[in-house]
Amino acid sequence: MTAYDPSNIFAKILRGEIPCHKVYEDDRALAFLDIMPRATGHTLVIPKNPARNLLDVAPDDLAHVMIVAQRIAKAAKKAFAADGITLQQFSETAGGQVVFHLHVHIVPRHEGVPMKPPASEMEKPDVLTAHAERLRAALAEV
Ligand code: 5GP
Repeated sequence: MTAYDPSNIFAKILRGEIPCHKVYEDDRALAFLDIMPRATGHTLVIPKNPARNLLDVAPDDLAHVMIVAQRIAKAAKKAFAADGITLQQFSETAGGQVVFHLHVHIVPRHEGVPMKPPASEMEKPDVLTAHAERLRAALAEV
């Protein structure tokens, strides 16, 4: 398997080299909004330890990421009055992965509204700021 490359964009976010719209952070995971959301509130959860994807992540880190993902999903459902949640994780190029630091997508869904295609449109920073704030507020209540 290809080795973890620390120059990927999410490693840069973890090191504070580029900004993100943070939703949640603890000692082992970080959650932030996807910059090209497939639906309002689209959030990514990543482990802080380096892992390329599902195929090399330490089981404990994966478990923690999923625990955080569940909390974010509950908060997102509330914050955006979603009818459901789509969870996605892509591993390797053939699996649809573009950024090679493990991440789980949490996409709030509304009845009858299709997800936008991946990387279709960059969201405005002020919109992402407002959505991150809504999610953080909802997280405090779940
Ligand atoms: P995947 O690797 O699972 O196919 O998708 C990578 C995801 O990262 C995409 O949904 C894309 O919109 C998102 N993304 C790419 N670059 C950035 C970035 O610089 N910041 C944030 N927040 N998301 C990004």
